[in-house]
Amino acid sequence: EVRTRIAPSPTGDPHVGTAYIALFNMAFARKMGGKFILRIEDTDQTRSTPESEKMILDALRWLGLDWAEGPDVGGEYGPYRQSERGDIYGQYALELVEKGHAFYAFETPEELDQMRIEQKEQGLPQKYDGRALALSAEEVQAKLDAGVPYVIRMKIPEEGTCVVQDMLRGTIEIDWSQIDMQVLLKADGMPTYHLANVVDDHLMKITHVIRGEEWINSAPKHILLYQYFGWDMPTLCHMPLLRNPDKSKLSKRKNPTSILYYQRMGYMAESVINYLGRMGWSMPDEREKFSLDEMIEQFDIQRVSLGGPVFDVEKLSWLNGMWIRENLNPETFAQKYVEWALNPEYLMQIIPLIMPRVETFSDVANVAGFFLKGMLPITKEDFSTVKMEEETLRKAMQFALWKLEALRTWEKDEIFNTLKSLAQSMDVKPKDFFAPLFVAISGSSASVSVFDSMAILGPDLSRARMRTAVN
Ligand code: ATP
Ligand code: GLU
Repeated sequence: EVRTRIAPSPTGDPHVGTAYIALFNMAFARKMGGKFILRIEDTDQTRSTPESEKMILDALRWLGLDWAEGPDVGGEYGPYRQSERGDIYGQYALELVEKGHAFYAFETPEELDQMRIEQKEQGLPQKYDGRALALSAEEVQAKLDAGVPYVIRMKIPEEGTCVVQDMLRGTIEIDWSQIDMQVLLKADGMPTYHLANVVDDHLMKITHVIRGEEWINSAPKHILLYQYFGWDMPTLCHMPLLRNPDKSKLSKRKNPTSILYYQRMGYMAESVINYLGRMGWSMPDEREKFSLDEMIEQFDIQRVSLGGPVFDVEKLSWLNGMWIRENLNPETFAQKYVEWALNPEYLMQIIPLIMPRVETFSDVANVAGFFLKGMLPITKEDFSTVKMEEETLRKAMQFALWKLEALRTWEKDEIFNTLKSLAQSMDVKPKDFFAPLFVAISGSSASVSVFDSMAILGPDLSRARMRTAVN
């Protein structure tokens, strides 16, 4: 039985790239009469959050994707959250040490930094130099007994090439000399992605690993781990990454990448999935508009083309317009619009902000209209009340964007504090600094709290408004 999976790390907003890879995994499994499963890779405990996991699951479901097994639905091979899988990874790491395929290493972070600096100075590739392999068994035991912190690293052949077979790319050869002696188990006892991913793919009986091409260079480590354990290797398939219209890798610095943005902008889930299905893939008859079921019915992974697919928001809007006109009637449009704009959850975030400012219900659209819009038609004149040179304004907005891109959580106080300290470091009075933000986010310098508004609109829509306001 074919079994595929999506294995997101819950470290941020749900990424369209995750939905794209999930879609192809699901289409492949369904077409082959197999199963698609969802596993949460949350071994990085400092970056993973339950909020992010929930957003990812909700977003994938909103798009109409669903999984036969997963943390929320259970299944025969659970738990499906790596943080709940106990010490299985540690046991497997030890098995490799016992078999002589992995070893203890005791270097401190400072020693590793020093090693890298020296390698850099000598023009050598920066990777672990294998120094712990020189320790005798007694020396290792003595350090373990003394409680010296350690990691477990995998051994890598010193020479030769690793041959990776890829469903779309055929044979890829990578020299072992380029591969680092990867840490498998960290000093805190947690596995790295590589170990946990291989162990779980095996235990969960995954037959096809379909993922982004950014993982090709990890494939040699994984192939070696399968050999070390004596397990059958799943078939690998590396999908081309989504790109910005300028052909660079799709990134939040240039384009909205969060599925929540596309929800907030009022796209239909059907058209987002349709558009993702056209990323590097096409229907046999080349038609542009198709449903998820139609895609699954016609699915053939060999039709994926490797030229970087461009995720172009304007094309998505065009397609969405077709979906609206061809698949909705006035009643269903009205129903969907009410769900989108007037759902109690969204309204209850907005109403407390605007209530103090309205006298009649008819004032609401004036005060709160910007919560129901996408990009705002802002011109230079809108900034006329702002006490800042155009040049400074541009700089302030750009710096603010960079700061906001780096935020790990999107929450009112954090946004405020970040921007306030930016204003101080730029020697601008916070009040003057915030004025253009009000304009960019709400279209007016006299709106409700801009920080509350940004928190409600979400990171991608807020940043997109800031980007377009100064361009
Ligand atoms: P950004 O550059 O926007 O910050 P990122 O690479 O940091 O993006 P992550 O949050 O690390 O994004 O990735 C979340 C998920 O989205 C990962 O599973 C990653 O594989 C996937 N992903 C990120 N960028 C792309 C892309 N351009 N195409 C397909 N998948 C992507
Ligand atoms: N957790 C990895 C990610 O976030 C999974 C990569 C894979 O599919 O192997 O992309």
